[in-house]
Amino acid sequence: MSRFLDRRFAYLETYTPGEQPLDKQYVKLNTNESPYPPAPGVIAAIGAEEVADLRLYSDPATRALSAAIAERFGVTPDMVYTGNGSDDILNFTFMAFCGRDKGAVFPEISYGFYEVYGALYGIDCKQIPLKPDFTIDPADYYELGRTVVIANPNAPTGIALTEDQIVGILEYNRDDVVLIDEAYVDFGAESCAGLVGQYKNLIVAQTFSKSRSLAGARLGFALGDRALIADLNKIKFSTNPYCINRLTSLAGIAAIRDEAYFRANCQKIMDTRAYTTAELEKRGFEVLPSSANFIFARKAGVDGDALYEGLRARGVLVRHFTKPSIRDWQRITIGTREQMDALLAAIDDMSKE
Ligand code: PMP
Repeated sequence: MSRFLDRRFAYLETYTPGEQPLDKQYVKLNTNESPYPPAPGVIAAIGAEEVADLRLYSDPATRALSAAIAERFGVTPDMVYTGNGSDDILNFTFMAFCGRDKGAVFPEISYGFYEVYGALYGIDCKQIPLKPDFTIDPADYYELGRTVVIANPNAPTGIALTEDQIVGILEYNRDDVVLIDEAYVDFGAESCAGLVGQYKNLIVAQTFSKSRSLAGARLGFALGDRALIADLNKIKFSTNPYCINRLTSLAGIAAIRDEAYFRANCQKIMDTRAYTTAELEKRGFEVLPSSANFIFARKAGVDGDALYEGLRARGVLVRHFTKPSIRDWQRITIGTREQMDALLAAIDDMSKE
């Protein structure tokens, strides 16, 4: 830290992203990327001409992209916000809708970035413990007078709330913004995107990073009431209006238009998830019921750190968290069947020791 850094940030604890290792080739199951390439149309959409066009700024209103997303979800383009990854949308939601007089509330075990944004903006954050079975009790989020942020399915548990449960949260928070972070919704959970016309306080954030294989392109979007979307645009146009680059925009349009490829990939991941869950259970693991492209698993009597390190030494990278209540658990991304077999082989090898 330099002596010039503003005092507000001196003690900020940053988010720790999952490793992107350069030292060797790992079976990489640590950041919930897709094991499949982007839709064929994405590759076709980006050629020499589009690269040459990079001399021009992108469209700050992302009109073509927003129209394609709006069409896919049956809303109007002014109900769509586009961001540089859904992290940007979460960031702007905390910035825009949780001021000094309005705190935030989210589950104590959830996406780690929520508390970082809270700290960045000096927001009073209430963190509510999960139930002992790692589920969220929706009633815990009723009428707290705070902006509600819920990942559905939750991360890193993978457990989802139903649409009815989200409706309960919306009904009991009519005067507060409710952000539903649907980064993983396409892998078997119920999306509440269909509710955006009905609830003026709802923002649904989704991403192209997981189910549409575009993590490296950085593209997320939010659906919501036009007034909320206008608020988010106010922040975008007060910071970096060109945050969606030209190539990403083209990639996004091609990806959202290929519904069949998207569905087939999601199905493959869900099938591989069922296979991996069953195989881990055969080996004595406890695996939470996941609606995401990862599973959260532990083996009774096996230290979480040791398991993580043992897998890493065998070339398999998973995600391990240090919060005491989940330190014996691993979050394991669902890759290809071959990648999951490599994970299982590493586990079998460790159990020989
Ligand atoms: N929400 C959740 C729950 C996540 O796990 C992630 C991925 N780290 C994100 C949002 C952000 O994803 P991206 O910025 O790639 O859209």
